[in-house]
Amino acid sequence: MTLDEAIATLATFNDDPAAGGITREIYTPTYGAALDWVAERMAEAGMEPRVDPVGNLFGRWPGADPAAPQVLTGSHVDTTLNAGRYDGVLGVLGAIDAVARLRAAGFVPRRSIEVVAWAGEEPRFGTGCVGSRMAVGELTRADLDRLADRDGVTIAAAMAAAGHDPDALAAARLDPTTVRALVELHIEQGAVLETHGEQIGVVTAIAAPHDFRITLRGAPNHAGATPMGLRRDALVGAAELVTEIERLATASPSGTTVGTVGVLRVRPGAINVVPGEVELEVDIRDSDLASRRHVVDAIVAAAHTIAGRRGLAVTVAPIVEDVPIACHPEVVATTLAACTELGLTSRAMISGAYHDAMIVGRHMPVGMIFVPSRDGLSHHPDEYTAPDQLAAGVAVLAGTLRRLAA
Ligand SMILES: [Zn+2]
Repeated sequence: MTLDEAIATLATFNDDPAAGGITREIYTPTYGAALDWVAERMAEAGMEPRVDPVGNLFGRWPGADPAAPQVLTGSHVDTTLNAGRYDGVLGVLGAIDAVARLRAAGFVPRRSIEVVAWAGEEPRFGTGCVGSRMAVGELTRADLDRLADRDGVTIAAAMAAAGHDPDALAAARLDPTTVRALVELHIEQGAVLETHGEQIGVVTAIAAPHDFRITLRGAPNHAGATPMGLRRDALVGAAELVTEIERLATASPSGTTVGTVGVLRVRPGAINVVPGEVELEVDIRDSDLASRRHVVDAIVAAAHTIAGRRGLAVTVAPIVEDVPIACHPEVVATTLAACTELGLTSRAMISGAYHDAMIVGRHMPVGMIFVPSRDGLSHHPDEYTAPDQLAAGVAVLAGTLRRLAA
């Protein structure tokens, strides 16, 4: 089975084929069946598959020196709703393909190589990367009871229903000293490589989100009876703030900060009432923490300035604040060397999206390899990367694993 055929087959494990795209959320029966199928592919490629107590799937290719810290590679095979077939899947099936190729070429690794399919990278429970967070000890048993999906099903309940054990968190812990490095192959999910006509992205850092909620409160007066000069319109203040967020992110010290207001809630939301209250949910990301912090501070200051001028009250509440990580220079250099050896064009770049590698990268050396995404699309049925681009990514991953495991 070619990699392309494997990706097409995995795409048939789908809870909502009629809607287009792929829906395969973590801890569902469809996800379980898909994971079993991936484990069979691991076994076919000569690896020993094993599922840890929280649902992370590992496939091991034992090295000649089993005591040496191993090389980990992988991504995820869960999807968001009506998503594409490559996001995450490439990093798992591509890693199995890379191992099969290295084995066929007669390579004998000194370090063991393990392919991993992390449980739940997509945020079914609000928080993403739950499998990798559990593996590095960043979720507690209480978190598993607290975090729930849109139907109120907690992580603990979903895990138990899928035959996993929410009380076995300790047994799912990965000892960082047993890992030499983790390498994750992934589609870019942006249009930088396509725009520049380059084949491979070598990720140097992974940006992380700082998300928060700003609430502006004015006066919900009658839209007809209230003269313009007597209004305290929260939405007009919010509009000014949204454009200021765009300006501040664009003018960030690093030049790489991005800022988005993806949610705007207007109350009371009636055509004949001046908006009295508006909530803005703001997402600011960068791989440069100081620049991100600078932009966030400037946004909060701007909110107070605009609110003061317009007679509005302002509150700021935290949502999430993840720490960006730098990829390990040695892994970056190794991947660049693999690109050079293969004669592939490459670009050093930051990852604007977060991945399991960001979570794991707080505890051990990581690197990431990107292949182009057509039109920069992902989390969408039209997500696409051509077979030759997928093959190039797998070849670079194989070259990177060969060097790291030697
Ligand atoms: Zn992904």
